[in-house]
Amino acid sequence: MKKTVMTASRSNRRGRKFACAVFCAAVAMVAQAVAGGGVTATYDVIVAGGGPAGIGAGYTAAKRGAKTLVLEKSGRLGGMAVSAMVSPFSMATYSPIAKEIAKKVGFGHSVDFHMADVRAYELLKEAGADVMLHADVLGPIMEGNRVTGVRVHCVEGERTFKAKVVIDATGNGIVAAAAGVPYEEGRAGDGLVQPMSIMFTVGGFDPAKRFICVSEEHARSKHCIVNGRKWEDIVQDEIKAGKLPPEVGVIRLYAGPSRDLNVVNATQVNGLFGSRSADLTKAEIATRKQAAQIVDVMRRHLPGYANAHIAEMPAVVGVRETRRFEGVDRLTTEDVLSGRKCEDAVARRCSFVIDIHNPAGAGQADGHDKAITGGARRVKPYDIPYGALVPKKVDGLLFCGRCLSASHEALASCRVMGPAMATGIGAGAAAALAVKQGIDVRAVDGRKLDLFPAK
Ligand SMILES: Cc1cc2nc3c(=O)[nH]c(=O)nc-3n(C[C@H](O)[C@H](O)[C@H](O)COP(=O)(O)OP(=O)(O)OC[C@H]3O[C@@H](n4cnc5c(N)ncnc54)[C@H](O)[C@@H]3O)c2cc1C
Repeated sequence: MKKTVMTASRSNRRGRKFACAVFCAAVAMVAQAVAGGGVTATYDVIVAGGGPAGIGAGYTAAKRGAKTLVLEKSGRLGGMAVSAMVSPFSMATYSPIAKEIAKKVGFGHSVDFHMADVRAYELLKEAGADVMLHADVLGPIMEGNRVTGVRVHCVEGERTFKAKVVIDATGNGIVAAAAGVPYEEGRAGDGLVQPMSIMFTVGGFDPAKRFICVSEEHARSKHCIVNGRKWEDIVQDEIKAGKLPPEVGVIRLYAGPSRDLNVVNATQVNGLFGSRSADLTKAEIATRKQAAQIVDVMRRHLPGYANAHIAEMPAVVGVRETRRFEGVDRLTTEDVLSGRKCEDAVARRCSFVIDIHNPAGAGQADGHDKAITGGARRVKPYDIPYGALVPKKVDGLLFCGRCLSASHEALASCRVMGPAMATGIGAGAAAALAVKQGIDVRAVDGRKLDLFPAK
């Protein structure tokens, strides 16, 4: 009997505690709603996504006096460079501000993916920006055709942040797509996008025998000989023997952050889209299985690699290409081949090759893409116009990084991290200027962004 009474009273106490917790949560929600009409906070500029483009955007907007918030869905800033362990950071453009940020953060020939995110956080804070991690931007708040803020899934629940300008640096264009900005995905003809890949590090080999192979050309050259054979031939034999999937094509081993590490760039999955969770799931599993097969090949063939092992796996699969939005201007294939110059340039002298990893097979793009680029993979140094970051019809919104307005072939050049960051810097500068002048970002004069030293 006594026991029953005690249990009942404990249960009552628990019930009271639970009721109290529910009441307190309700009071907090009401207080928040009364204080800000349901709005968690209001900013001049909100940057969705904290990759190279988002860091550039947040840093520049804050430095130029705008009250800025950077929202990143993962636990780390840096985007592909950190979460997908993409290295090296290819500057491949003239952008003094991008150069400064990359140097301070540790985005270099070998990306410091252990600490670059912490340095990026500190840089943003020093510039005056607020940063929130684990903040998944769900979509825009719209008033007519104007974006006036974002809805965010925070760990504690859904929150609303308002802003005069929202910069979409999510890579996938999460805000722009939901705001109704038209976009293209994939190449002309069959709609396929560049393959997803993971990069990972390998250790456990003899550092004195570290093997480097930086490209397809390198793999088939006299500089990549292993036990008297070309590295490419060895890899091809392994594919024929069924030890590697055919999409792998070539195993590139870059210098890692220390002498006892290689960064490996070799995995690849075709026919999947980085803008779809079901496809991302398949890509995550398939590329990680490939990584194990690749290390097995390295162990069996490379001198000094008998005990090699995967040192680090990235948090997420690397995505090269998803949505490309319609802007008031567009970077075309002809622009990058002919070396277009623009008065409203946000990135100047971009020089990275048209690097199309084959969307339908191994290696570089096959005839389908070559037919469009004329087989020319090299570009003439070109500019990226501000207009390629500006939607045609939606106000209060800019996009940057790999979801800017560009053709499939042009993006294959300007998607690398230097130009991606430079477009973010351009978006941040334009947003700050719009706030200062009390105008919409679509009315900003792209020639007045003050991104390059005066001649
Ligand atoms: C396998 C591979 C190899 C590559 N090799 C190189 C190379 O050698 N050199 C080079 O310079 N570039 C390389 N690149 C290209 C380069 O990494 C990307 O194009 C570049 O990182 C794009 O920058 P970004 O900021 O636009 O996008 P991302 O780097 O993708 O960053 C987007 C950020 O937004 C965040 N985000 C996404 N959705 C949301 C949301 N809803 N809410 C909040 N945050 C969100 C993401 O978590 C991420 O941090 C490679 C890419 C891949 C995949």
